[in-house]
Amino acid sequence: MSLTRPLTLIVLLALLAIYLLRAPTPPQELRQSRLLLGTVVEIAALGPDQARLEAAVNNAFAEIARIEALMTPHQPQSDVSRLSAASDEATVASETAEVIALGLQVAAASDGALDLTLGRVKALWAIESETPRIPSSEELAEALEETGPAALQLDGRQVRKAAPQLAVDLGAVAKGYAVDRAVAVLRAAGVTQASVNAGGDIFLLGDHGGRPWRIGIQHPRNDQQVAATLLVADQAVVTSGDYERFFERDGVRYHHIFDPKTGRPGDRCQSASVVAPSAALADALSTAVFVLGPEAGLALVEKFPGALALVIDAAGGRHLSPGLQERIEWP
Ligand code: AMP
Ligand code: MG
Repeated sequence: MSLTRPLTLIVLLALLAIYLLRAPTPPQELRQSRLLLGTVVEIAALGPDQARLEAAVNNAFAEIARIEALMTPHQPQSDVSRLSAASDEATVASETAEVIALGLQVAAASDGALDLTLGRVKALWAIESETPRIPSSEELAEALEETGPAALQLDGRQVRKAAPQLAVDLGAVAKGYAVDRAVAVLRAAGVTQASVNAGGDIFLLGDHGGRPWRIGIQHPRNDQQVAATLLVADQAVVTSGDYERFFERDGVRYHHIFDPKTGRPGDRCQSASVVAPSAALADALSTAVFVLGPEAGLALVEKFPGALALVIDAAGGRHLSPGLQERIEWP
């Protein structure tokens, strides 16, 4: 009797230890941000194994950096720089070709509202520099020569330019594409719940504890307020807004999203948010919808399965794709 008691106790303690060791650890969240793509990129990933999450998130950031190196206009050896410098054609990486293919598809569907050849227009305004300026009509007309949805032709990885002076700018699509690539890396590492946010280009992998993720859309005229909250899962949410990069002169706001018909900042919207199956598509569409305005913008989005939009027009009026009604909350 006196011998069996401590034995029973030891057995019980051993069983308890085995149970505790084998009990599933609750999912932990790993949240990291880095400066990439000219903005703050934040990745939040959930999973039981912190070390594996950390490796996956590191690899996702590395993938974003790799895509940025291909598509930035700020490095002379990038695909975009080589293409802009080329007199007629250049061969690009398959990733760059993929972005151009999607851009050309949305360019054609939007009657040229999305235009991958606005590099010279963008340079004239220099909105992102310390010294932005308002170009003259003559300068804009010249920078717009030969631009348009047919200005680039893609054949595999070969890109042909309609004219030597065309400067390519993938800024409207590349950020979303980089987000998709990061999500693909997380998925391949077995991560099933994560968010990747590149300065407002967001992908939500999986759901958020059995419920949809709740994504706040910034109020375009009050950065302390949300204009709406979108409920999404396994989808991208991307917003193009006139408040993101702009300067003001004589009470007029000049921002970074240009109407290719004029070379001037688009004036039909304050913001356009698009929900879509991929961040690259949502990114391309949000820019095009912003330029087109609410009516033509919502009609464009309807052509793409799974895509929905919330448009805030120039007067602050809200316009919704019908399918978004049950997935939106107003403040
Ligand atoms: P986003 O923030 O996605 O709307 O993209 C805006 C960026 O895309 C700008 O900073 C420019 O580099 C480029 N861009 C501006 N206007 C257009 C346009 N109409 N079509 C394609 N790219 C554009
Ligand atoms: Mg865009």
